Amino acid sequence: MIDVVVIGGGPAGMSAALVAGRGKKQVILIDEEKPRNAVTHETHAFLTRDGTKPEVFREKGRRDLLKYPTISIKNSKVLSIEKKAEDTFEITTESGDIINAKNIVLATGVTETLPNVKGIENYYGSSIFSCPFCDGWEMKDRPLILIAESVQALHVLKLLKNWTDNLIVTTNGNKIFDTDQKKMLEINNIRLIEERIIELKGIDGELQSIFFESGEKINRSGGFCTTVLDNRLPFIAQLGIKVNEAGFVIADVMGHTNIKGIYAAGEITGPSQLIVSASQGHMAGAGIIADSCEEAFQSIQK
Ligand SMILES: Cc1cc2nc3c(=O)[nH]c(=O)nc-3n(C[C@H](O)[C@H](O)[C@H](O)COP(=O)(O)OP(=O)(O)OC[C@H]3O[C@@H](n4cnc5c(N)ncnc54)[C@H](O)[C@@H]3O)c2cc1C
Repeated sequence: MIDVVVIGGGPAGMSAALVAGRGKKQVILIDEEKPRNAVTHETHAFLTRDGTKPEVFREKGRRDLLKYPTISIKNSKVLSIEKKAEDTFEITTESGDIINAKNIVLATGVTETLPNVKGIENYYGSSIFSCPFCDGWEMKDRPLILIAESVQALHVLKLLKNWTDNLIVTTNGNKIFDTDQKKMLEINNIRLIEERIIELKGIDGELQSIFFESGEKINRSGGFCTTVLDNRLPFIAQLGIKVNEAGFVIADVMGHTNIKGIYAAGEITGPSQLIVSASQGHMAGAGIIADSCEEAFQSIQK
């Protein structure tokens, strides 16, 4: 019986594994190795790691974990989690492992769907991004496009005005703004294009121009887009883990979900950044140690 299985090897999962392993728990971290930021070249705004390549960030994290004899890593996908008697769990992986664990940390992040624009994946992570806090500095003062198919756009464009005064918003053929919102864009000197995008053009991931259905072409040297985030883990519903209205797992500050022995950290609990996910992972690892210490004390008193 393993003390802790951490599912997901991003900053949340690695951080949870590190803290639980340093707390003398036997930890297995299982990672499918498809982190959300794999498309980008640099990670930003993580103190001491600003500008680091995502794969280097991960490699350094894994090296930290493997210093501890209590922690091991398996590169595989978790296919199922089954609740067994006495609050334990059976975890099955794609590579055929069946692992029994007392505690699980769900740190599987999210999958994201980009706007329905042909070829956008050629630019996403290079010159089109989703988070101004992560990549706003690199795109500052440029002529930018915001491609937004949902009203979430309003929040992002208000933020983006902090980094550039030269912003155009397109809804890619969707009608998402009401009259008052359109007026607000006009007052703030933000052009709105409600036409459908036909094509993005650029070189080596660097956006140069956008072609619209009307035949209009505009030149932009980068941009941002809204994305739809989803945690498509069948076992969340199967295990009866509570999620919020947006579909993210509900966890308290120590990572507890509503199921005893199942903790959650990182973007599975809501959109965030690397350092925030790492901090949530740390708290989930600490939560597991604190809970097991409490249980040990209680059992002696009995
Ligand atoms: C283009 C882009 C640029 C970004 N830039 C920055 C930035 O500069 N700074 C910043 O702070 N944030 C940035 N982010 C956000 C950042 O990537 C996330 O906040 C962070 O990765 C979330 O960490 P996490 O550990 O929750 O999830 P992830 O890092 O996504 O890790 C989840 C891991 O779980 C694995 N997994 C999923 N399901 C399973 C399964 N069933 N079995 C086994 N493993 C599984 C995945 O393969 C993945 O390796 C960026 C995001 C994008 C898309």
